[in-house]
Amino acid sequence: MKIAILSQKASLYSTRRLKEACEKRGHDVRVIDYLRCYMNIASHKPSIMYQGKLLEGFDAVIPRIGASQTFYGTAVVRQFEMMDVFTANESQAISRSRDKLRCLQLLAREGIGLPVSGFAHSTKDIEGLIGIVGGAPLVIKLLEGTQGIGVVLAETYQAAKSVIEAFRGLNANILVQEFIKEADGADLRCFVVGGKVVAAMKRQGGPGEFRSNLHRGGTATAIKLTPEERSTAVRAAKIMGLNVAGVDLLRSNHGPVVMEVNSSPGLEGIEEATQVDVASKIVMFLEKNATRPKGRDRVQH
Ligand code: ADP
Ligand code: MG
Repeated sequence: MKIAILSQKASLYSTRRLKEACEKRGHDVRVIDYLRCYMNIASHKPSIMYQGKLLEGFDAVIPRIGASQTFYGTAVVRQFEMMDVFTANESQAISRSRDKLRCLQLLAREGIGLPVSGFAHSTKDIEGLIGIVGGAPLVIKLLEGTQGIGVVLAETYQAAKSVIEAFRGLNANILVQEFIKEADGADLRCFVVGGKVVAAMKRQGGPGEFRSNLHRGGTATAIKLTPEERSTAVRAAKIMGLNVAGVDLLRSNHGPVVMEVNSSPGLEGIEEATQVDVASKIVMFLEKNATRPKGRDRVQH
């Protein structure tokens, strides 16, 4: 197959590993910086230009869209879809997963376990908002944060109120969440490919840190999921319409709760912790599916 990896940098670990896996399995692979793709929209034959040439003949793309480039990145993925190229994750599903609120709304509709979460526009409603999640301590999150930046633990009602006011004063969209204390600074990253969990790790935040993100100094170890955790992860990816997803769970007193679903989950931490060749699992998924009639997004929100 001819495969394009859409990534800003060929030297990133995940990009390198995906490229290696494609080559190892005998595919013709190219890393394409999606920010340098340009498109002719007003033509009957959708096309993409890159470095002065038409991108042609691709069977599949693996989008690795950076969190800060969702708008342009998904437009490029969409253009590939218009050209009937199979994509590991569809553009709509990527956009959907980038908004934590939208993600929680969709998961809640299907009865997936979630931390109790609240959302409001006006600072006049702060009291009610804090009430929804049962008071302090609580977690406040920027809707489009990533790598743990923009996630704050407010220990008291007063702290919560002032942080919410400060964020809203900057016009930031936030959600407020019950603090799952019993998770003890750890979460589970379940790597889902094509409806199966192919690898799972437990991430533990550093001492005194409630955020387990590896970018915040967390450490990772391989873990065996319970059947309930496994099925929650698989269902969450499916609800989001993602074929490749990093589903993050917390172990709460009321069972596994989903915190978020990532559409470009990193490979480095999970491959190191589990020794699973996750990159090849993604390529094998493309081999199985890229030739089938195109999977069209069915979530429609
Ligand atoms: P990001 O997209 O920045 O990674 P997350 O929502 O995944 O944001 O939160 C970052 C980390 O903070 C999580 O991995 C988890 O360890 C911790 N965390 C987030 N929400 C909660 C919560 N409601 N209760 C306990 N810990 C939480
Ligand atoms: Mg996270």
